[in-house]
Amino acid sequence: MSDIKLNLPKLKGKVIAIDGPAGSGKSTTAKILAARLGYIYLDTGAMYRALTHFALANNVAISNEEKLTVLAWKLSIEFETHEDVNRVFINGVDVTKEIRDPEVTKYVSQVSAYKGVREAMVAKQTELGKNGSIVAEGRDTTTVVFTDADIKVYLDASVNERARRRLLELTKMGVSTNLEEQEADIVRRDGFDSNRTHSPLSRARDAIVVDTTNMTIEDQVDRIISLVKSLIK
Ligand code: C5P
Repeated sequence: MSDIKLNLPKLKGKVIAIDGPAGSGKSTTAKILAARLGYIYLDTGAMYRALTHFALANNVAISNEEKLTVLAWKLSIEFETHEDVNRVFINGVDVTKEIRDPEVTKYVSQVSAYKGVREAMVAKQTELGKNGSIVAEGRDTTTVVFTDADIKVYLDASVNERARRRLLELTKMGVSTNLEEQEADIVRRDGFDSNRTHSPLSRARDAIVVDTTNMTIEDQVDRIISLVKSLIK
């Protein structure tokens, strides 16, 4: 691992934004990076998942853009990071586990495609990042939310590798699934997230692309830390 000196005064207040498709390693990398830098870790996908979970649990139709938009503004979504666990709360209720439910994964791309929902979430994310010292990850953190980020990274990996990682993660959580199912889900979500009208997943022109197919998590973190070192002088 890199021997970067953490919490150097000149690293204070910076914004690191990481985008990429499902399973590219964003969450794990961003979480470790934030811990090493003493930064806030912002999982923007968890916010869309939290809203989707809330809607499903409260019988709000996933097709009801208007109601979902009102909810997106109204709900309080908070994070608490302890060691390497990032807990998510909706209106004070811990939904960390529930937001990873396959049912939520199935509908989240539809919910996050709504313009009003995105506007509400982007406003909340901008507020969370207003003082910097943040590592944000998602689909539009480099292109919409933090367009002035000090460092922008686009993580990618082959579909097969991303599906393999998701399978490992879900199996650990006790979810019964297989590689084919995960590949199909990843291809479906990639298509949805990249082709939607509002804030589609895309590579920002000034983002550094890192292909993680053959990289370990340590490799990924080291690679971004070396970018931090070289770009933040
Ligand atoms: O990163 P994760 O897989 O948890 O994200 C779940 C979904 O939330 C994505 O498939 C995408 O539809 C949506 N999302 C988004 N914009 C973000 C983060 C996530 O639209 N910034």
